[in-house]
Amino acid sequence: MSLQDITARMDAALVAAGRSAGDATLIAVSKVQQNARVEAVLEEGHRIFGENRVQEAAGKWPEFREKFDGIELHLIGPLQSNKVRQAFDLFQTIHSVDRPKLARTIARIADEEGRCPDLFLQVNTGEEDQKAGVAPGEADAFIAECRALQLPVRGLMCIPPANEEPSLHFALLAKIARRNDLAGLSMGMSGDFESAIAQGATHIRVGSAIFGERDYG
Ligand SMILES: *Cc1c(COP(=O)(O)O)cnc(C)c1O
Repeated sequence: MSLQDITARMDAALVAAGRSAGDATLIAVSKVQQNARVEAVLEEGHRIFGENRVQEAAGKWPEFREKFDGIELHLIGPLQSNKVRQAFDLFQTIHSVDRPKLARTIARIADEEGRCPDLFLQVNTGEEDQKAGVAPGEADAFIAECRALQLPVRGLMCIPPANEEPSLHFALLAKIARRNDLAGLSMGMSGDFESAIAQGATHIRVGSAIFGERDYG
């Protein structure tokens, strides 16, 4: 599917939800994709991309940034404390702030650098062992702690369990955001972004539907 197809589906979902076309941000998730595919999407004019590994992003984006202006990068995967400074240099937004220790490291480095990327806090809505994020029951306290650290918390992020109805998880994330006065909702991927938009997503993270299947070969 092309970038234009996805944008059209996004806009249709937004209008169906009583929102305006263009009211959500499309993050094109370029992890593992061949550079030629990523470059084709840059040539089409898209500038907002997501990567899930700092190392991989550091290897490919400096070169793209030399060729194309205005690139905005979002980190959507796990961040180790010892990569925070590097993440500051690469990413405008971090969606995967998933534990208090990481939040404290980000706050310390933000102090030193005098700047901080926009942040989304990850909530493990399905309480899955293998997934990052705070449990829904700990989310309010985590949000309060990040705010006390004066971090620029823009919203919440989740990745629903693979075999459950995603809209229940999106609705739960939206409810936690609402009661904490957070405007941003990073939710929805290739298979479920329309449902995420119906539940209020402001940032959707779409990879394979734009670029094709990832080849991990
Ligand atoms: C890979 C990834 C996506 C994109 O997944 P697709 O199914 O290819 O759209 C979205 N969010 C996160 C956190 C990811 O790691």
